[in-house]
Amino acid sequence: MTDALVLIDPAASTVEVSDLGAPHLPVTDLSAHRGDGIFETVLVRLGGSDVTVVNRNRHFTRFCSSASALGLPEPDPDLWDRALETVIAEVRAADPSSTEFGVRYALSRGTQNPDGSQSPRGWAFNVPVDDTITRARAQGISAVSLDRGYDAYLGSKAPWLLIGAKTLSYAVNQAAGRYAAEQGADEALFVSHDGIVLEGPTSNLIIRRGDRLLTPAPEAGLLSGTTQRLVFDHAAELGLTAEYADFGLSEVIDADGAWYVSSMRTAVTLNQLDGNPIKRDEDLTARLQTLIMAG
Ligand code: PLP
Repeated sequence: MTDALVLIDPAASTVEVSDLGAPHLPVTDLSAHRGDGIFETVLVRLGGSDVTVVNRNRHFTRFCSSASALGLPEPDPDLWDRALETVIAEVRAADPSSTEFGVRYALSRGTQNPDGSQSPRGWAFNVPVDDTITRARAQGISAVSLDRGYDAYLGSKAPWLLIGAKTLSYAVNQAAGRYAAEQGADEALFVSHDGIVLEGPTSNLIIRRGDRLLTPAPEAGLLSGTTQRLVFDHAAELGLTAEYADFGLSEVIDADGAWYVSSMRTAVTLNQLDGNPIKRDEDLTARLQTLIMAG
């Protein structure tokens, strides 16, 4: 797959096409050694002249609320739109047969200047829908539950934890993924210290119980997902209702179907949790994937 990168200067309001293989970030950038920044990953679907940026507005809205949570300057919609469009145009020009890819855009606090001010910088580049994702979409995944280390609903009492902001500090999420792999599972499932199911390291969980879709409330201590919101907004079209609810691991295992949902995965079946099989709902998986890909 072709690589496309744009560098974004929020102060100058410019985007510049650059070479992904070249060095760009000073090691003093606060994203590099503090993870101090925010990002989004959006799915782009191409068909003929049609371009669908799935959940474009939901992503940008979350990007702005993450910026606010970290005290970063409010992102300018025109600037970030231009960046996104430039990456999409670069990929399409280099590979007209491309049908699907992701675009990751990020805003770093940037480098600390000698006078104490900071110079935020941004970038956007394309990421592939790789074999792991296509396999998960087709076959589903297994997960092991992991203690997230805090009680549910802690976020409002401890805003400095930035629970619910999509920051560049993903070392814990990456470590959870490695830990799950060491246990022979595809994914981790975070559970609050007091036993409430939260989310995967890079996805939300939706379960079906009868004609109800359930997902943990973002306030319980997780990232509010754009994909989960899209599904909930269209639940009636699937003949289902949608509710936020607290539930534990046994409710996931006993569900009539369970899915990991995220921008790049769309919806993938959770086949097994902690070695326990979960009912598969192939029909709803297909309908969820179609619904999400339509954006
Ligand atoms: N939860 C976390 C921690 C994530 O990193 C992500 C995706 O990046 C999600 C949930 C799912 O969010 P979305 O559907 O917006 O991709």
